[in-house]
Amino acid sequence: MTDRYAVIGNPISQSKSPILHTAFARQFGHELQYDKLLATHEDFAQTVQRFIDEGGKGMNVTAPFKLAALEFADTLSDRARAAQAINTLKFSAEGVHGDNTDGVGLVSDIRDRLGVALENRRILIIGAGGAARGILLPLLEARPAHLLLVNRTESKAHELVEASGASRQIVAAGPLSAVEEGAFDVIINATSASLSDAHLPLERGVFAPDALAYDLVYGRGDTAFMSDARRLGAAHVADGLGMLVGQAAESYRLWFGRRPDVEPVMAMLR
Ligand code: NDP
Repeated sequence: MTDRYAVIGNPISQSKSPILHTAFARQFGHELQYDKLLATHEDFAQTVQRFIDEGGKGMNVTAPFKLAALEFADTLSDRARAAQAINTLKFSAEGVHGDNTDGVGLVSDIRDRLGVALENRRILIIGAGGAARGILLPLLEARPAHLLLVNRTESKAHELVEASGASRQIVAAGPLSAVEEGAFDVIINATSASLSDAHLPLERGVFAPDALAYDLVYGRGDTAFMSDARRLGAAHVADGLGMLVGQAAESYRLWFGRRPDVEPVMAMLR
């Protein structure tokens, strides 16, 4: 019987997950049916349960259900617990396991695909929403020299950094204006500002020589952040498509024990 997988969200029509997982399955000759499931907050749990009852093996979870999925999981990976959000569910005889592959998808995209080192580098994260929460622990595990997390609502930046439990020598929080505190090697825009073409208060001094500017937003061409970064001297500029494909590849690995090759899938999507 063909294994069934799905992505659940609202809205869901825009999701690229079926295209990604079908392409991954083709690399290994796996038989896979991958559907899109639309749910509401009221019927989220029933929709997931029905999918399991019908033989579903795994599910990707997207906005706005990444928190709701926490309630549904019997066990959590460390990174899902740290992120307090789930983007991948695995259903088996042992129960429902929840994971969060967003951060490791980003780290593998930066390190493996773009070839930019994170160890001993200075990292700046702008934003303290769900995406920032998902990437903070995996970025800290990449052993940067220093990580500064800034946010428009400063208190949220402090809450995230406190919750990470990392040493104050490594990680710090501040308001958006704290981006002026010296040069960074990797600057990650984890805000949704690019969705409304809003500009962030970036200065030339933020970008160290050879800096990477990475916008988590994808599918919008050059964003305001990406063009500002280029103008202000960032040596490398990327959007979040590689993170999207990377997180999907890690979900696939969780389900099937094999990590697909992301390059041909990136090329297909571009
Ligand atoms: P949230 O709504 O949880 O958080 C939004 C964040 O953006 C907050 O920190 C908010 O600040 C900040 N923000 C919004 N507008 C502005 C602005 N004009 N200036 C400064 N800061 C602003 O969103 P998510 O964290 O879930 O997602 C953030 C982005 O990441 C989205 O655009 C999403 O598309 C992208 N993403 C990409 C993924 C990928 O695979 N590539 C995966 C997940 C997300 P404040 O707290 O002050 O409101």
